[in-house]
Amino acid sequence: MSAFHIPQGLIEQLRTARQVAVLTGAGISAESGVPTFRDAQTGLWAQYDPQELATRRAFQQNPQLVWAWYAWRRGLVAQAVPNPGHHALVTLERFTPHFTLITQNVDGLHAQAGSQNVIELHGNIKRIKCFDHDHPVDHWEEETDVQPYCPVCGSALRPDVVWFGESLPAVALHTAVNAARTCDIFLSIGTSALVQPAASLPIEAHQRRITVVEINPHPTPLTPYATYVLPGPAGEILPALVAQVTQ
Ligand code: NAD
Repeated sequence: MSAFHIPQGLIEQLRTARQVAVLTGAGISAESGVPTFRDAQTGLWAQYDPQELATRRAFQQNPQLVWAWYAWRRGLVAQAVPNPGHHALVTLERFTPHFTLITQNVDGLHAQAGSQNVIELHGNIKRIKCFDHDHPVDHWEEETDVQPYCPVCGSALRPDVVWFGESLPAVALHTAVNAARTCDIFLSIGTSALVQPAASLPIEAHQRRITVVEINPHPTPLTPYATYVLPGPAGEILPALVAQVTQ
């Protein structure tokens, strides 16, 4: 018997769905030890607001500071392993005829868990490119106190992630919007539903009368629009939900 009440109607809908779309945010990786942007930062970084470091302007003003912060986050991500929430989504993908996993996360943990059809809306922290021309770079000095430069053009290196105020990769966004509009059921997991345009995806689904499910310990602006709200940690709720769907 699961500690969480999972509505029977939701289990039946997921069992029979032909197309499932899922949007994940930083919350699904919290149980893997990767802090969300809304968690208070600890140690050296406690004095900084992540939302003020993850911008072009912050990088232009102090590239060394932003590089050091990302080097620290890359270190956290390198040690992190997928948790039962990531693994449950792999099981659900195998069970579902057409499954699209849209993530705002840059940690690569869905692919590491074995998810196949993953759209990384905000890039990947493990990739590096240059600031001026987006030249991809394979090798760099992983020192937090030395800002590296592009071997091609000499501009500063930065993570290949989408910062606040930057555009999302067009093909990835188009594919995500299409999945949100055509799915039978949309799951929003571990996201504050505040960062646009990702936050509009479950709303797109809701406007088409598609069932929307939210999994998050805390209410978000999406909560009033969700057909089913499962409050709690994704690493516990998802395994319980998927076990009942696939049994
Ligand atoms: P967010 O930090 O704004 O919100 C995290 C949400 O997760 C909150 O609503 C919180 O209540 C919820 N949450 C916390 N623990 C949870 C758990 N165990 N299970 C389920 N939900 C839980 O994150 P966001 O909505 O993804 O948006 C912030 C931006 O930050 C995104 O653009 C993303 O790219 C970036 N980001 C990525 C990572 C990562 O890759 N792991 C980490 C931090 C931030």
